[in-house]
Amino acid sequence: MDIIFYDFDIVFYIFFFLTGLTLGSFANVCIYRIPLNLSIIKPRSSCTVCKKQVKWYDNIPILSYIFLGGKCRYCKEKISIIYPIIESITGISFVILYHFYGLTPAFFLFCFMAFCLIVISGIDYYYQIIPDIFPLMLVIAGLLLSFFNVSLGETYLQKFLNAFIGFIAGGGSLFLIGLLGHFLFKKEAMGGGDVKLMAGVGAVIGWERVLFAIFIASFIGSILGLFLIITKKVEKRGYMPFGPFLAVASYLTLLMPAPAVLFFAFEFNIISKLFGA
Ligand SMILES: [Zn+2]
Repeated sequence: MDIIFYDFDIVFYIFFFLTGLTLGSFANVCIYRIPLNLSIIKPRSSCTVCKKQVKWYDNIPILSYIFLGGKCRYCKEKISIIYPIIESITGISFVILYHFYGLTPAFFLFCFMAFCLIVISGIDYYYQIIPDIFPLMLVIAGLLLSFFNVSLGETYLQKFLNAFIGFIAGGGSLFLIGLLGHFLFKKEAMGGGDVKLMAGVGAVIGWERVLFAIFIASFIGSILGLFLIITKKVEKRGYMPFGPFLAVASYLTLLMPAPAVLFFAFEFNIISKLFGA
């Protein structure tokens, strides 16, 4: 099968990249509108300044941004570079998942998770909230599709249990960390949104990966937090959204074999996959 379809494979890479770009464009809409309680379907996008509706040919991911020189066609107001960045990130994250999982149910489930994580990161970054709908969708999709999720185990029972324990472990461990933080520092250490998020992610990626993701996110988050405090970029009490760290870490664990494993083994696997060794 590999040999016959090998040359055709590039078509799938391009297809899923373009699909990712398009959904990335939709992710921008979600990030902008959901926190404002606006419909994500209607009306069509319009310029935030002059309110003119964006024509379809000015709404093509990345390309329109380049052709318009990053400015609104009518009022010449600058369009945020964040839009094409979000589109690119979505496209690239889909392609990488396709590279690792091929045309499997797990691939589609993980693309769905990547999309949710990108929207969640954007909203958490700008508004410091994580809308419940995303963790909820992840829990439902994760548990229902666990039977087809090759990354969770061998048998149907194993797969479902892995997803279910992931749901409990992802939410539970963050909840306990939050409780501990509250007890030690007498302040809110963990948002409820983060707890729900990792419960949802745990149902998709299983208990080993979700615990590992929390570990990586906490590690990177605390280093960056310390750095920002030392360089006086934020005050000690300043709030740093944790969602984006959790999101990136969760995604990265998908590119590793089930954790409970040595870090080097991960790296070796990623490198050998990338270079086809
Ligand atoms: Zn305008």
